[in-house]
Amino acid sequence: MSPSVIQIDHPIIRTKLSRLRDLTTTHREFRDLLDEIAMLMTYEVTRDFPTRVIPVRTPLEQTTGYELARHVTLVPVLRAGLGMADGVLSILPEARLGHLGLYRDEKTLEAVPYYQKLPPDVCETEVLVIDPMLATGGSAIAAISYLKKVGVTNLRFVCLVASPEGITALHNVHPDVTIYTASVDRQLNEKGYILPGLGDAGDRIFGT
Ligand code: URA
Repeated sequence: MSPSVIQIDHPIIRTKLSRLRDLTTTHREFRDLLDEIAMLMTYEVTRDFPTRVIPVRTPLEQTTGYELARHVTLVPVLRAGLGMADGVLSILPEARLGHLGLYRDEKTLEAVPYYQKLPPDVCETEVLVIDPMLATGGSAIAAISYLKKVGVTNLRFVCLVASPEGITALHNVHPDVTIYTASVDRQLNEKGYILPGLGDAGDRIFGT
């Protein structure tokens, strides 16, 4: 696997992901599991975020403490990315939330942008683009291209399940972007779904 794909392979994440994949998991359970996995993944995704030294006074004495050097912006790719936002926010409650609306044209499988709203200082922050499924890579490529165009430099892509085809496509266009995923699945099918995957993440999150 390329060094810029980090598979967060942890027994708890593996267990929760298996329940998430299960056809019989209800959308309520699906949302809870997605929250929990996104929260657990965030711990690893942020592992090398830079910190700066700050003074801290304990009840006993003055000491040295730390805080994140840069604010964090989450950019969920609408709509399925929203399903991971609360889990990430439970670890990074002060993160800003941008939105990028891209939908997949079912015929061409191309990502079509329809909505963008980002915090004004997004370029000075650590940006986490979140989307549960890295399938063809079309939405991830379009989202990252848009963010780079507005000047974002510190960005990572976080998904739950990635296809080998999506990883290759994303790396061909954005080799500098690290992909964090809980699983690299076998392949895409002819309709652009990941196998074994978990089905349509948006439909399963929102019960549509
Ligand atoms: N989007 C999904 O929600 N699921 C897939 O398998 C592929 C793209």
